[in-house]
Amino acid sequence: MNTPTIQSLIQLRRYLHQYPEISGNESKTAQKIHELFQELEIDRYYTALGKTGLAYVFEGPQLGPTSLFRCELDGLPIQENNPNISHSSKISGTSHVCGHDGHMAIITGLGMHLSANKPSKGRVVLLFQPAEETGEGAEAVIADPRFAEVYPDYAFALHNLPGYELHQIVLKEGAFAAASVGISIHLKGWNSHSAHPEAGKSPAKAMAELVLGLEKLPASIEDFSLVTVIHAKLGEVAFGTTPGEAVVMATLRGFTNEVRDLLVEQARRLAEELAAQSGLGLEITLTESFAATHNDPEATAIGIKAAHELALDILEAKQPFRWSEDFGLFSSHTKTLLFGLGSGLQQPQLHEPTFDFPDEIIETGISMFKKIIDLIHE
Ligand SMILES: [Zn+2]
Ligand SMILES: [Zn+2]
Repeated sequence: MNTPTIQSLIQLRRYLHQYPEISGNESKTAQKIHELFQELEIDRYYTALGKTGLAYVFEGPQLGPTSLFRCELDGLPIQENNPNISHSSKISGTSHVCGHDGHMAIITGLGMHLSANKPSKGRVVLLFQPAEETGEGAEAVIADPRFAEVYPDYAFALHNLPGYELHQIVLKEGAFAAASVGISIHLKGWNSHSAHPEAGKSPAKAMAELVLGLEKLPASIEDFSLVTVIHAKLGEVAFGTTPGEAVVMATLRGFTNEVRDLLVEQARRLAEELAAQSGLGLEITLTESFAATHNDPEATAIGIKAAHELALDILEAKQPFRWSEDFGLFSSHTKTLLFGLGSGLQQPQLHEPTFDFPDEIIETGISMFKKIIDLIHE
């Protein structure tokens, strides 16, 4: 791409970085993107897809496959702390520390390219998906009845990867990123005066055993699984009162949806046993469910070929990543490839308060997607 175009994409990326919006509330971000796309030659578009999402369709003159390229609209409820940049977030407590600003710049650049170079056959859909960070956005987009009109044969996405060489393409066929879910376990007893604890029913013992027991569950499962307790609360801060309630929250992960679901079953059984032993009431809720990301062999081969033709350094990951990606849900619907794009060995990790997407890799991301489009649509 020419230098002015890349410069304008860097400007866009830094603008988006200053005005992040959290999951499900990305209306201003969507408006900004939509203003830019209105200047392009688009055949069709959809707004308010799955609440705030956008999709732009570029049609070729001949019939052919539909491919979809996805980026994410949302920032995070994390306070940025980065004195090294002049474009830091202007929204207190909210930041683009996952690099979704960069992913949006890449897909916008791809839109500029497609506007002047329509696919020879089939159609290309560019999707700006809401609410990736909470695992709700992909589901909302897929559930939107209008999504059926652009239902893809292939879907591609990238995520920048700190700790990998700049521009490196990191991929793996099959399991790529973990399935995960948040579990909240509420234990219910009743309070009493702290001078008479025997008159109350404290969930303290059950809660302590639950915190320790949950993290031991993976030991009995052969495939990779992981339980991380992220929050626990017992009673209230009142020295005259015994605790009547407790809550324990944990994230459960596995490389397949089945392993994650098995873990949920085991966590449920453990909580039921402990609650019964102490005569407590129990309520369990699940939240932020992410499907495992599974890279289809054909889509992966296309990605590898594209990286080869661009002479990019390819790293085939030996193990799936332990984090989860909302893109995983598309895996259950179509042939998908999610690949990593190295964002530098010295780059802070995703979600750290000093993370800032490296502008150098915007062009690399666009080149990869352009090449994939050539391979599918020429
Ligand atoms: Zn993230
Ligand atoms: Zn992300």
